[in-house]
Amino acid sequence: MVDFLKLAQPGITELSPYQPGKPVEELERELGIADIIKLASNENPLGPSPVVRASISGQLAELARYPDGSAYQLKDKLQAKLGIVPAMVTVGNGSNDVLELVARVFLGPGLESIVSEHSFVVYPLVTKSLGAELTVIPAIDFGQDLKATLAAISDRTRIVFIANPNNPTGTWVSKQSLLSFLDAVPEEVLVVLDEAYAEYVAEPDYPNGLELVGDYPNLIVTRTFSKAYGLAGLRIGYSVSHPDIADLMNRVRQPFNVNAMSLAAALVALDDEAHLQESIRVNNEGMKMLTDACDQLGLDYIPSVGNFLTIDFGRDAMPIYERLLREGVIVRPIGVYGMPNHLRVTIGLPEENMRFIDSLKEALSGGVKEALSGG
Ligand SMILES: *Cc1c(COP(=O)(O)O)cnc(C)c1O
Repeated sequence: MVDFLKLAQPGITELSPYQPGKPVEELERELGIADIIKLASNENPLGPSPVVRASISGQLAELARYPDGSAYQLKDKLQAKLGIVPAMVTVGNGSNDVLELVARVFLGPGLESIVSEHSFVVYPLVTKSLGAELTVIPAIDFGQDLKATLAAISDRTRIVFIANPNNPTGTWVSKQSLLSFLDAVPEEVLVVLDEAYAEYVAEPDYPNGLELVGDYPNLIVTRTFSKAYGLAGLRIGYSVSHPDIADLMNRVRQPFNVNAMSLAAALVALDDEAHLQESIRVNNEGMKMLTDACDQLGLDYIPSVGNFLTIDFGRDAMPIYERLLREGVIVRPIGVYGMPNHLRVTIGLPEENMRFIDSLKEALSGGVKEALSGG
């Protein structure tokens, strides 16, 4: 029998498959209970806008046709709504796809990317799968240390990934520190600024990457429809960069990487300002519910500007995760991010947040009982 592991490209063998959040249906079968709630994948609890649903139904008759590979209408809309120049856009099957395109253009054996400790898993994945090296900079208070990142740049560095805010920590970098960093980074080093949660952030000194791309040719900003726009299941995102970089990325992009449904949905989603604002409002309210509950329970958490909260239990969080599961609440363990004592909880609808808080109280008191009976 052939050892296929030996045949695999170096770098691939080091990877392990991405672990998605447990699907609701699977857990319902396992536990034999209904009405399970999933707060594990940072999805929009409101779902997609009603306008999007209508637009998708309208597309059904056209499904035999290939989608518009150039995403002409979407780029046009992005220009009208956000002032983005079409030649600067690269569309992706989710923004993860775009992250991979950047890596495929610029990384390879002998080259490296730099990431922060506790940063989004897709950066190591795309780096290593191309045979490039990954340099991890220790975090400060779970956030990215841009000074240390700058100091770590070498001749081999091609990409620095910055998630702003970062998943799973919810931490963010200020405009001031980002600008100092961008001013000092060599122009040959690409800075990928991942703004998957940008729509949720209201901090006055939070930088809008889209406004900076014109000033920094080596800056690539990524955005997604998966979070605030509630379209995670459709897989659509994009990057905004210097046109020369977009041109290179579009050379390696599969011609029809974004499907017709997704293009149609994204187009109208951008117009539904009310749904976006409602999503943000529900998130702000839910964030307050969860942080208030943590304060009341004496639990530490990492202040988050995203649509999720990462809670520190000060000890292995897996038993709490398991107890929450038994209560029918799915959250996300983040041991793979080097944070075994934390759990990440996505902000849900008010009733889902209440259910999580009640289950958490139950899980914690159960934990005390078990600890006592265990001596
Ligand atoms: C969710 C998320 C994304 C979005 O991924 P898609 O492929 O667009 O669904 C990108 N970056 C970070 C940090 C995320 O948490």
